[in-house]
Amino acid sequence: MKQDNIRNVAIIAHVDHGKTTMVDRLLGAAGAFRENQRVEERVLDSNDQERERGITILSKNIAIQYGDVKINVIDTPGHADFGGEVERVLNMADGALLIVDAFEGPMPQTRFVLRHALALGLRIVVVVNKVDRPGARPDEVVDAVFDLMVELDASDEQLDFPVVFASAMNGYARYAADDGNMDMVPLLDTIVQQVPAPDCEPSGPVALQICTVDHSSFVGRIGVGRLYSGTMHKGEQVLVIKNDGTRYNTQIKQVFTFQELGKVEVEAAGAGDIIAVVGVDDADIGDMVTNRDNPIRLDPIEVEQPTMSVVFEPS
Ligand code: GDP
Repeated sequence: MKQDNIRNVAIIAHVDHGKTTMVDRLLGAAGAFRENQRVEERVLDSNDQERERGITILSKNIAIQYGDVKINVIDTPGHADFGGEVERVLNMADGALLIVDAFEGPMPQTRFVLRHALALGLRIVVVVNKVDRPGARPDEVVDAVFDLMVELDASDEQLDFPVVFASAMNGYARYAADDGNMDMVPLLDTIVQQVPAPDCEPSGPVALQICTVDHSSFVGRIGVGRLYSGTMHKGEQVLVIKNDGTRYNTQIKQVFTFQELGKVEVEAAGAGDIIAVVGVDDADIGDMVTNRDNPIRLDPIEVEQPTMSVVFEPS
C-alpha cells in the first residue's frame, strides 16, 4: 500500500552547492519557522565539528509538513564516503533531490552520490541551484546532468527527470530558469508530485530495518530507519534479527519521528515514516526490529565495498 501523506526524499549534492541553504528555505516556505522565532543556526549545520569544517559530516534528518504531506528530508554526507553511509541512508528514500550549482555543474561528489541513488532506483529531482550567480548556465548544467545519468546507466524513467531552477539564497524555485516565481512552492510541489509515496503495510506486523545508527550520551544507541510495516509503539516488545541471523528479544524504550527541527519523541509511529528507536543497544546497519510472533525479514542492505585500498609497500 502507498502511504500517500508521506514522502521520503534524500538530499544529495556536492559540497557548497547549497544543500543547507535549500533545506532552510524549504522549511521557511512550509511555514516551519514561526514568525519572530529566531533560528540561531542553520538546521543541517548544527553539529560543532561540522561547523568547524564547514561541511556536512553527520547525517541528520528533518521533516517538512507541507499541507497534508509530511516530507522527510534525509541528509546525506557531503564528504568523500568510504564507509557506505551514503548508500545506507539512501535506502530510506524513494526519491532524491540532486542539487547542482548552476555555474559549476556536476562535480565529483555529485557523481558519486548520484550513482548510488540511481542504482537504488530512486526518482531523481534535479535542482539547479544558484541561478542568480553571474555566469550561471542552467540549461547547460541540465544537459550535463543528463549526460552524467546516461553514463551512470540511469533507467529511461530516471532520465525523464523533473527539473527545478532555484536560488536557495534568495528563496525561490522555478519551473523555468526565468519564470519570475519568487517562492519555494514549485520545489515543494515537485517533491510531492514526483517522489513516490512509500510502499508499506500499515496493518502488518511491525518491521523496521535499521539504516543508520546514531548515538546520544543520554540514551545510548539510536537505530534509524524506515518503518516498512505496522506501528511501532513505545514500550513494544520486539525481536531483533541481526544480519548474521542471530536473534534476541528487547523492548523499545523510546520512539522518535522527525519534525521541522529534528527528532521528536512520540508514543507510536506508523508505517512509511522514518523513525528512530531507543532500546536496541546492539543495533547494526541492516538489523531488523520486528514482531516476535510474526517476524518480517527484509533483504539485507547491500553496501558496495570501497574500491580504494591502501597498499603498504614493504621496505
Ligand atoms: P552545502 O555545503 O551544500 O550545504 O552548501 P551551503 O548551503 O552551505 O551553501 C554554500 C555557499 O553557497 C554559501 O556561501 C551559500 O550562501 C551559497 N549559496 C547557497 N545557495 C545559493 C544561491 O542560490 N545562490 C548563490 N549565489 N549562493 C548560494
